Amino acid sequence: MKTAMDTDIQYLPGVGPRRAALLRNELGVNTVGDLVRLYPFRYIDRSTVQKIADIHPDQAYIQVIGTVLKARLFAKNGAEITAEQVKYNLAHRLSVIIGDDSGEMEVVFFKGIKWMQPRLVPGSTFLFFGKPQTFNGRINMVHPEFDAPDAARSGVLTGVYTSTEKLKTGGITGKLMLKLVSSALELVLPTLEESLPDYILQEKGLVPLSFALRQIHFPTDQNALAKATYRLKFEELFYLQLSLLKQKYIRSRNAVGFAMPRVGEAFNRCYQALPYELTGAQKRVIKEIREDLKGGHQMNRLLQGDVGSGKTMVAVLSALIAIGNGYQACLMAPTEVLANQHFNNISKYLAPTGVKAALLTGSTGAAARREIHAGLQDGSIGLIVGTHALIEDTVVFKALGLAIVDEQHRFGVEQRARLWSKGAGGIAPHVLVMTATPIPRTLAMTLYGDLDVSVIDEMPPGRKPVQTLCVGENKRIAMYNFIRDEIAKGRQAFIVYPLIFESEKLDYKNLELGYEEVIKQFPQPRYQVAIVHGQQSAEDKAFHMAAFVAGRANILVSTTVIEVGVDVPNASVMVIESAERFGLSQLHQLRGRVGRGAERSFCILMKGYKVSKESQKRLDLMCATENGFEIAEEDMKMRGPGDLEGTQQSGLPITLNIASLARDGIILSDARGYASHILDLDPTLEKPGNAVLAAELRKDKYVRKDYSKIS
Ligand code: ADP
Ligand code: MG
Repeated sequence: MKTAMDTDIQYLPGVGPRRAALLRNELGVNTVGDLVRLYPFRYIDRSTVQKIADIHPDQAYIQVIGTVLKARLFAKNGAEITAEQVKYNLAHRLSVIIGDDSGEMEVVFFKGIKWMQPRLVPGSTFLFFGKPQTFNGRINMVHPEFDAPDAARSGVLTGVYTSTEKLKTGGITGKLMLKLVSSALELVLPTLEESLPDYILQEKGLVPLSFALRQIHFPTDQNALAKATYRLKFEELFYLQLSLLKQKYIRSRNAVGFAMPRVGEAFNRCYQALPYELTGAQKRVIKEIREDLKGGHQMNRLLQGDVGSGKTMVAVLSALIAIGNGYQACLMAPTEVLANQHFNNISKYLAPTGVKAALLTGSTGAAARREIHAGLQDGSIGLIVGTHALIEDTVVFKALGLAIVDEQHRFGVEQRARLWSKGAGGIAPHVLVMTATPIPRTLAMTLYGDLDVSVIDEMPPGRKPVQTLCVGENKRIAMYNFIRDEIAKGRQAFIVYPLIFESEKLDYKNLELGYEEVIKQFPQPRYQVAIVHGQQSAEDKAFHMAAFVAGRANILVSTTVIEVGVDVPNASVMVIESAERFGLSQLHQLRGRVGRGAERSFCILMKGYKVSKESQKRLDLMCATENGFEIAEEDMKMRGPGDLEGTQQSGLPITLNIASLARDGIILSDARGYASHILDLDPTLEKPGNAVLAAELRKDKYVRKDYSKIS
């Protein structure tokens, strides 16, 4: 059903085809409804009028009441011209000196001079509104708005809308936007339908939509604005969560999964032979997974845990449950180095269980590969560890029941889907996705809102804090000496160089120069330096990596390829070159490579000469905390959720218009809890009272890809 909201923006009074094109292209406003839902991004208090003498150039916007003392016209070459010459289009600049009882200032115009000049005549008084700045050491304003002196209204907040250069030159000013929004409201409000059921407004104490829309654009006071903002944010987050949770309900009802009621002998044997006690968090997560596997519904669980929190053990024990119930399990890792490492670790844990594991990667030879394929098909291999090689069509399982994916964001959607299709009898296996990129809770609720999320929020005992410091070039020699001391104690060090794709060539140059310098500082035969980067052959990489893992090399110079998962407990120093060029979560991942052994570990952030304020803040945060979730939260606040590493791929399910995942976490949690409560009472939203909810969820923006097949 079409409503006034759906009216093409072109037909809104005051718009027309030319402005409509601008609004469409610059702001994505196609309909009157789009305009009504385009909220001001900030508000200006137009109730205060300042004295000229009190103006500070840092102020965002100011109002002064000034009398024109002098108005002069200048041509492009700077020569003063007469008012007469304005009609020959010679005027380039109109400079007006205004004054009040406290002082004088200049206001300047470059455009619309023909219109301004006859109005801004000496002796006339106006209310000027604009952004102050300093020019040649004095305060002035360029292109202020001006109005009758009594235009200052008391207690009125004026909305400021997003603008672009094209909008401005196309004549769509802030003032015009206000006018357009006002007529848009006039058009839609009389027939506006409330977008939340009455009972929700009651229970949650929300203001009606018509009030909210009017107040968000034209607030009568701060209090009304706050109520309007809250209502609109709540609604946005509520519908987002409702749509995610509804999908989750549907999936958990429909998705048939393999029932795995037993814990099994293999699990128990492995558990009893563990060299350490599981942490409370590990135990809790394993319990959550066991519950999922029992039920006969397909599990779709995201396991988040900081670097070193012990996710591998959880993966192994989960796999053993599947195996104990007569199924097979697979563990897919993003790189060969990691797959190797997982396989070596896991083999140790599996030794007492009698379960057969195998490793399948790109470098598995043809004969071994054939043997593995056969073992998977006849079921003699219980657990297969590997890389992308696992998803090839030639890999066929007898009874794949559980697929575990490590470091999920490195895999594409397509690749994961192919793994899911290998389940026994065409039924999707249970899925456990592990990630060490801590995602803030609010973001996880949204990105993975339809998945179950487990968090390992406790580190195994014995993990020593990593001391982090940030130093400049003047400490480079000291840094090398420090590494020499650590090597003398039998320790190893990482030195990491940034690799940013846009300037790959330049980055390799950095890496190569860095490597030469490191070799000079740490000459053979006393020292061995390994190097690993993306442009090496697989053999070279494996050779150098193995040398470092085995302790034959003292130092590993590399790009960020070592970021993920590599475990060298003997390494005690992580040096990160040009640290300001890394994102926070990347720095955190890198730092997680040390502090795994018994010794004290160090992370040295080397910074360049010129570091922006923003980057310095990031580096300071790294020195201040080791908590990955805290870092992720801060990262999100600094950069906005869209830019968070590891999340670009998946993207946010819908664009948020007014709420912010970074700042509105409390509203989000409340909205999610409330949405869940509503679905508990009416899972399919069939009750008449929920008709509005069901109708809203049928809108395009909520009908999206099924994330259960993706993550
Ligand atoms: P990540 O979560 O980064 O994958 P790992 O699974 O690699 O972490 O575990 C990091 C290290 O901690 C490994 O050496 C592992 O053996 C050890 N570890 C795991 N769980 C425990 C525990 N409960 N107690 C002591 N050490 C543990
Ligand atoms: Mg790991």
